[in-house]
Amino acid sequence: MDRGTPPPTLIYGGTVLTLDDAGTVLEGGEVLLRDGRIAAVGRHLTAAPGTEIVDAEGCFVLPGLIQGHVHLGQTFFRGLAEGRRLLPWLRQRIWPLEAAHDDDSAYCCTLLGAAECLLSGTTTVQDIGIGPGVGGLMAALADSRLRAIAGKCLMDGGDGLPERLKEDADRTLAEAEALGDRLAAGGRVRYALNPRFVLSCSDALWRGVRELAEKRGWPIHTHALEQREETDAVRRAKGRDEIDYFDELGVLDADLRIAHGVWLEPAHLERLRRRRFAVVHCPSSNLKLGSGVADVVGLKRASIPVGLGCDGTACSNHLDAFEELRLAALLQKLKHGPEAFSGRDALALATRDGARALGLGDEIGSLEIGKQADVVVLAGHGADLWAAPPVDPHDLVAFSASRAHVREVFVGGERLVSDGALVHLDLAQIRRRAERAMAALLKRSGLDL
Ligand SMILES: [Zn+2]
Repeated sequence: MDRGTPPPTLIYGGTVLTLDDAGTVLEGGEVLLRDGRIAAVGRHLTAAPGTEIVDAEGCFVLPGLIQGHVHLGQTFFRGLAEGRRLLPWLRQRIWPLEAAHDDDSAYCCTLLGAAECLLSGTTTVQDIGIGPGVGGLMAALADSRLRAIAGKCLMDGGDGLPERLKEDADRTLAEAEALGDRLAAGGRVRYALNPRFVLSCSDALWRGVRELAEKRGWPIHTHALEQREETDAVRRAKGRDEIDYFDELGVLDADLRIAHGVWLEPAHLERLRRRRFAVVHCPSSNLKLGSGVADVVGLKRASIPVGLGCDGTACSNHLDAFEELRLAALLQKLKHGPEAFSGRDALALATRDGARALGLGDEIGSLEIGKQADVVVLAGHGADLWAAPPVDPHDLVAFSASRAHVREVFVGGERLVSDGALVHLDLAQIRRRAERAMAALLKRSGLDL
């Protein structure tokens, strides 16, 4: 649907955290959005007649947050798989629930998750998708107006996988390609190939993914090295670890983004820094499932791009990137010492570094002229974001702000959240539709919860 070009907008008077290379901060700064892009950043900018004006005095203005790994198709399953480690979590609850999705439930579930993302300042997601119902998921992403990279979640076997999720490798690849073909070139939703993880994909499926990635220029997004039991099971099944396995199948020659990477070893890093390889760190999910803590500092030292994601609400229970970036910083401080990870580092994970991890470093992730106009304004008038003048605003936002402060959200210059409320989506209606769709999904799943 062509929604037309949003009107130019001038955001003025706030503390602008550009997250550019130099970490430039402008007190009383201005950001001009025009034709979907950032047209100017500075002070005393001139606004043409017809420009919408946003008074951000006392507020913080920063790039829209980027989540490099989410499952919006699991939003309905929040709290339904508590107290389990990864493999039983998948086999006992998540896969049977995902297998019961149809287009309607997937649409409502994804839109509910997208609403939570927008209201908490996330403007870009990379979603690993679902199998049945993926058409509904893609439609909801498009209707949400989030910037997204998404696709069908691919699986063709493995222990405990329900029959409905066990697809023929050739057929599921053909469906994935057709789904990617339907996306408009240059649109806000882009395609990725999403094999779930090594244990649920055959060698033939991985080879097919590799060939399709090369043929179409699509990235590959998967889970790897999340939990010790999982990596042990991979060694038993494949005779080697995930990185050796990906290397032998040529998957490491593609544009590969893995979620987690908790169990990457130092010996892997030297090999991976020369590849188009990125890690998406999901600290809440890793803590909740007892997986471990990824070495983000070590990955950054090895020049491997690292982004951030909340994973799904079925494991982390939330889609709030502010909570996630704060937690990421605290964990790296615990691991490496308090000086090892600053507030600016934490914000970078969810902005500039996250953009690089998704191959979008030239497009999003900082407030610089020519980039997409993806911008968040945080209300800073309350007692909780007060600080004495010398404080670094990166530290203030990273360690003291939360989604409760999100006031305005722009994606491609389009205002999607205004005064803390969704502009184009009706949250009450989404919730009513979600209740009906989830009740029907539970019935189809056959689970006795
Ligand atoms: Zn995941």
